[in-house]
Amino acid sequence: MPPVNVQAIVLRRRPLGEADKSLTLFTREMGKLSAVARGARKPTSKLAGSTETCVQARFHLAPGRTFWIVTQASVERARARLHRLLMNAATAIYACELVDRLLEENVPDEDLFDLLAGTLDELETTEHPTWTLCRFENALMIQQGYSPELETCTRCGKPIEGETIAFLPQMGGTLCPSCARMVPGTVRLSRTAWLVWRLLNASGETDFPGDEVSKELEQAVHLHLRYHLDREMKSTQVLWQLRQDLVGE
Ligand SMILES: [Zn+2]
Repeated sequence: MPPVNVQAIVLRRRPLGEADKSLTLFTREMGKLSAVARGARKPTSKLAGSTETCVQARFHLAPGRTFWIVTQASVERARARLHRLLMNAATAIYACELVDRLLEENVPDEDLFDLLAGTLDELETTEHPTWTLCRFENALMIQQGYSPELETCTRCGKPIEGETIAFLPQMGGTLCPSCARMVPGTVRLSRTAWLVWRLLNASGETDFPGDEVSKELEQAVHLHLRYHLDREMKSTQVLWQLRQDLVGE
């Protein structure tokens, strides 16, 4: 295999040996891949800054026996401000880890790359990381084909109305009041949160709806995403714990 020059986000970095780093890179061109950055844990290494989690860089990679070897890297987005805000940094790491678990190796996904890059950029400055997380998880859900039904009852097909809305990931979306009485374990959403969710799905963007609605919606979005991903991903437990530490449940 010839060497390659790729744009990538560092999803994960682990120490390896004395001074090396083992990296999980999300490249725009080739999808997810594993690489080793030799000597990158030495503070004087030219690779030190470009091989940290959440950094976006252009990497020159040479094929090694098992992994790619980083031969050169130039930082495009250091996202240094991210780490000044603890909650934002933790949210960014969670987003990277979620994407890491979702991606198969060597399958490019430019839409997901752009979604993650945009989310990390936003987390550098936002005062509402929970809202960013909510929109990220919601966009991810739509992208993966798990959009919930929010307009009609998933059991009887009646249009949804009322002040509180019953929602159940296992049913694929909302339930009307009479069906909600028949089905145990529904989550209740305020009408505002439900309206914001529909708006978000229709337009992809809405203004920050306030802390309460943001948190309520984030929890519903997360439950829905989690329900679908738990069925597909083998080890999600640590990941969900990370998310729970961030937002609470
Ligand atoms: Zn119904």
